[in-house]
Amino acid sequence: MTEKYVFPSEKLAVEEEYLPAEGTYLENHEIRAAVFGDPFLDREHYKATVFPKMGKAKVPHVGEIVVGVVQAVRKYSLVMEIHFLGEEEVFPPYTGVLHLANSSRDFVSTMEELYASGDIVRARVVDAKTVPVQLETKAINFGVIYSLCERCGTVANKIGRDKLQCTQCDHFQKRKTAIDYGKGILIE
Ligand SMILES: [Zn+2]
Repeated sequence: MTEKYVFPSEKLAVEEEYLPAEGTYLENHEIRAAVFGDPFLDREHYKATVFPKMGKAKVPHVGEIVVGVVQAVRKYSLVMEIHFLGEEEVFPPYTGVLHLANSSRDFVSTMEELYASGDIVRARVVDAKTVPVQLETKAINFGVIYSLCERCGTVANKIGRDKLQCTQCDHFQKRKTAIDYGKGILIE
């Protein structure tokens, strides 16, 4: 085994030469790593495998609840870095994408009305076959669970369904909040 690790989505082999096995997935006839770990190309059985670096495979599954940090908010989507799969911390983090249509049950025209960079968000995986994985936050227990004031950076308290207020400067900010905002990353 070499010291060279592969990152999720890194190309390992082509479909003509190997079969995609554990820790890998197939995309456009190319076998790619699904997890961070040690790649192994088994020339005897023509199988491409990635042994997860973390010991136990921590691959996001459909329906799984994840917690991450919003990296970038665009008009119709956002990108977040997923740090928790269920209760388990993952390193390196996975990247997840949330589309506006999967964000809220309310009518909203842009993602900026719901989320901002730096927000800690709890979401659910709706498609784990794609890289990045696709997320949704429509239900009441999904959304922002921790947010800092846009103006001064102090912790913001939840004062209404989708309304936060800074504990320092009283600035209001609108967010799609989880029902248990401020209570921690796990769902009771
Ligand atoms: Zn403030």
